[in-house]
Amino acid sequence: MNRSPQSAQISYNTAQKQLQEAAAIIKLDSAAYELLRCPLRELHVTIPVKMDNGSIKIFQGFRVQHNDARGPNKGGIRFHPDETIDTVRALASWMTWKTSVMDLPLGGGKGGVICNPKTMSTGELERLSRAYIRQLGSFLGPQKDIPAPDVYTTPQIMAWIADEYSIMQGKNLFGVITGKPLALGGSAGRGDATARGGMYCVREAAEALGLSLAGARAAIQGYGNAGSNAHKLAIELLGMKVIAVSDSSGSIYNPDGFRYEALMMHKKKSGSVSGFPGAAAISDKELLELDVSVLFPAALDSVITKTNAPDIRAKIIAELANGPITPEADAILYNKGVYIIPDLLCNAGGVTVSYFEMVQNAYGYYWEEEQVQQRLEHKMKTAFLAVQQKSQTYKVHNRLAAYIVAVERVAEAMKLRGWY
Ligand code: NAD
Repeated sequence: MNRSPQSAQISYNTAQKQLQEAAAIIKLDSAAYELLRCPLRELHVTIPVKMDNGSIKIFQGFRVQHNDARGPNKGGIRFHPDETIDTVRALASWMTWKTSVMDLPLGGGKGGVICNPKTMSTGELERLSRAYIRQLGSFLGPQKDIPAPDVYTTPQIMAWIADEYSIMQGKNLFGVITGKPLALGGSAGRGDATARGGMYCVREAAEALGLSLAGARAAIQGYGNAGSNAHKLAIELLGMKVIAVSDSSGSIYNPDGFRYEALMMHKKKSGSVSGFPGAAAISDKELLELDVSVLFPAALDSVITKTNAPDIRAKIIAELANGPITPEADAILYNKGVYIIPDLLCNAGGVTVSYFEMVQNAYGYYWEEEQVQQRLEHKMKTAFLAVQQKSQTYKVHNRLAAYIVAVERVAEAMKLRGWY
């Protein structure tokens, strides 16, 4: 995914603004607010890596620990050419709020390395992943800070990191990282957990709105892990019809809906959703503005802005992506009566199953996929209800309500620990 430094700055400003709004409503103590505005710790590392041609290339990397008042920091690692420290800071703070909304005993962290994995060999990627972890050293640990996959990092990279960290510690400590392959301490059900958690939220939202989802239309922006699984599960769990999807190559539309298996096969063969037989090509703008019951942004941040928000016709927007709606657009959509399931809640299924993975690693005992799904459903429903309740108490939109739930819990933990 392309992300410019400018959009990174927007994300960080957005994160700061959202905290400020929630803090004002709950009259948060000023010292607690100052503590939460900035990360508690951040580490900048310079990483030398031997490339295949024998040269040494120097990479820059970061790890940010936003707040660990409620438990060890948790958050992914991104390998991206446009990575910036501000993106990492914003995402680390969102992880603090996300783990808190889900009531997981964790804090928020994020990591990143400025690199382009698409131009690197497997050997170069492995050496970079191992070197990054060696540089982070004791900054990480199963009781300190537990990374996971994010943009352009994979279960294989998590496996190399688990191995390198275990070598550094002289014992197997797979719980230092989540999103590992199943054969190396991964959790059943992690693959589709983000989309699945989102579906449980959509089901609750539809019930609250008195909206029937059976046969109702959905559109999905982005067809990667979150988006393609959303296609499968919107049909399987909610009985919906997915009439439009997109990826970086373009958007496609069919009023009769797309079959998941056929579209996946096409994407695997051709590398994109474009050109799928029987589908009409539409623009990304048209996809976002379709008359659907549920719109799933599952690609980039800041795709719904004050410019296109007035034209959005979806009844529910389920934010599988992080930060797809700008604060100005939020206000417009709220006034139009669009029901937004905010990212902090909607895409938290992934980190929730990552937490389950940590628990299973600690016990050395692994759950069946069905148990993972049942526990995930319970967690998502409980969090959804907590947010709904705050939204009613304070008469605010769901995003602000999610922030209020999260900030109150982190502030309480900081108070109990004597930090303010
Ligand atoms: P991914 O890399 O697997 O997929 C991203 C998809 O977006 C790809 O299909 C890509 O082609 C598409 N895309 C890129 N630019 C696009 C554009 N301009 N228009 C339409 N599509 C475009 O990533 P993912 O893991 O599915 O993550 C997607 C979003 O969900 C991100 O915002 C991520 O932070 C968020 N998220 C993912 C998880 C998870 O567990 N995967 C968890 C929480 C949040």
